[in-house]
Amino acid sequence: MHRVQVPELAERMVLGPQDTRHLQVLRLRVGECVQVFDGRGAQGVGRLTELEPGRAVLERDHQAQASARGAETPQPVTLAVALLKGDKLADVVRAATELGAARIQLLVTAHAEAREIGAQKLVRLRRIASEAARQSERSVTPEVVEPVRLMECDWQGTLLVAHPGAQARITDFLSWEAPLTVLSGPEGGLSEAEVAWLTERGAQAVTLGPRILRAETAPLALLGAIAAQGQ
Ligand code: SAM
Repeated sequence: MHRVQVPELAERMVLGPQDTRHLQVLRLRVGECVQVFDGRGAQGVGRLTELEPGRAVLERDHQAQASARGAETPQPVTLAVALLKGDKLADVVRAATELGAARIQLLVTAHAEAREIGAQKLVRLRRIASEAARQSERSVTPEVVEPVRLMECDWQGTLLVAHPGAQARITDFLSWEAPLTVLSGPEGGLSEAEVAWLTERGAQAVTLGPRILRAETAPLALLGAIAAQGQ
């Protein structure tokens, strides 16, 4: 069944031009059903009752079953990622959503400046996350959080920092007793002061193997290692 994200699961859900266009591309007709999800964990089935250019209406169908894939990790996983140059964050957000991130925190670091992102880019990244959640059959769309300075960031639970030369492995810390944050640096890497600041506050530095990964590859290696555990 096709899927569409709605602002809220309601008895009657009116879709805007972008989602209506999506239903038209799928050649859905009035009377057919789609899975609906709100991006915050709730999902169900909606029957298409009106379809016209720029506007579609779905009515909740309580008889039909939404597929329950259980696509979320046992504890929420936050990806904290430094601002990257050009359009690299778009690919990172898309793949991180497919790999199960519940939240994507953008970071300003010593070697990643705030000018790399503006309001429009943030809106686009959020749209990409929503689209990737729909495609990967998740009920949660990761929140893409506007940039904070690394040394002002806060986290709950376990923080794993990808750092070349670290000895510990990600799998040493996957106990799922608390929320997890995985952090990776920018093109120029994290500064020694940043790594020291994080580890003094309980972060664990972890390796992604003996090769140096590009800044857009490292976040996906972190999340891929978690997904490869079956989570
Ligand atoms: N010369 C930089 C350094 O030594 O940190 C390379 C930075 S790398 C292009 C960008 C980010 O990817 C790093 O800050 C780190 O978070 C992550 N990274 C890349 N390769 C890694 C590896 N083999 N192990 C752990 N983290 C890695």
